[in-house]
Amino acid sequence: MRVGIPGGLLYFRYGKLWTSFLQALGAEVVESGETTRSILSSGVSKAENESCLPVKVFYGHVLALRDKVDAIFVPRLVSVKKGTHTCPKMLGLPDLARAAVEDKVPVIAPTINFQEGMWANYRAVYSLGRLFTRDPLRIVRAGLEAWSEHRLYLERLTLGLDHRSALKGETEDLLCEGRELRIGVIGHHYNVYDTFTTMSLLDRLSSMGVDVVTADMVPEELKRRELRRLPKDIYWSYEQEVAGAILACTRYRLVDGIIFMISFPCGPDSIIRVLCEQENRRMGGVPMLSLVIDEHTGEGGFLTRIEAFVDMLRRRKGIASEVREAVAV
Ligand code: SF4
Repeated sequence: MRVGIPGGLLYFRYGKLWTSFLQALGAEVVESGETTRSILSSGVSKAENESCLPVKVFYGHVLALRDKVDAIFVPRLVSVKKGTHTCPKMLGLPDLARAAVEDKVPVIAPTINFQEGMWANYRAVYSLGRLFTRDPLRIVRAGLEAWSEHRLYLERLTLGLDHRSALKGETEDLLCEGRELRIGVIGHHYNVYDTFTTMSLLDRLSSMGVDVVTADMVPEELKRRELRRLPKDIYWSYEQEVAGAILACTRYRLVDGIIFMISFPCGPDSIIRVLCEQENRRMGGVPMLSLVIDEHTGEGGFLTRIEAFVDMLRRRKGIASEVREAVAV
């Protein structure tokens, strides 16, 4: 069976897990690949106008696979951590994919929900495996193999590799190489690692001689500590990660400045943005640039803002070190 995996949204987090699992079960996996202009255009023209940019991009990826595969894999991730939920738009992805393919291709959509306990998830994965094989041991082996591949992928991200290098298992091209200026580029995986929609932001910062710190590179314990300080728990799983990373970067001065990547119109991010900006100001933290992107964002304006931010941080750092030297004298 040829199974298509759309290369948008949660692919940036779980793509390795899904691909490894399906391949180990004998499926031929067809990926839609990186986002391109035509994928974006078809998603934008067909998806609901109110959708956020990543959902439109995802729609385009599904359409790109429609005539090439026997089924499309779009799991429904309801909750990936006890006590939290994913964003409502992610909950509806399988339905959106079905609407996109107009029932021409079946959509395989196992439900993962940590609110219902681990056994419900194991059962969902097992039922998925049964679509490909009747051998229970093969399903278990495929699951274990895929999980270890997934852990390895996430570990590479924490070490400072970007999504593409981590997928390929390359160990060069670290985002952080001990350069003078260090900027946190924080946001959802798809808002940070999609080279097309972010206009190669990570590569451009690297070529400007800037070290990049992503949310993955911020130690988990620091993120958790920051979340515990908040008066209320954050309800959305992935927003917890984003807010924890921004607040940890701010409190412990892990970076010289933060670029918060947001897609328009994202409800959860707009709330987290206000929270993080307020906390950042209260802590007297680091300069923060919230960049909201959508399908109309022009490359010129986008780059001008990045360059101005980098220049400002360079000047600020230069001035700060001059003041320190003067005080020391
Ligand atoms: S979290 Fe925001 S950007 Fe992500 S799918 Fe939901 S609305 Fe879209």
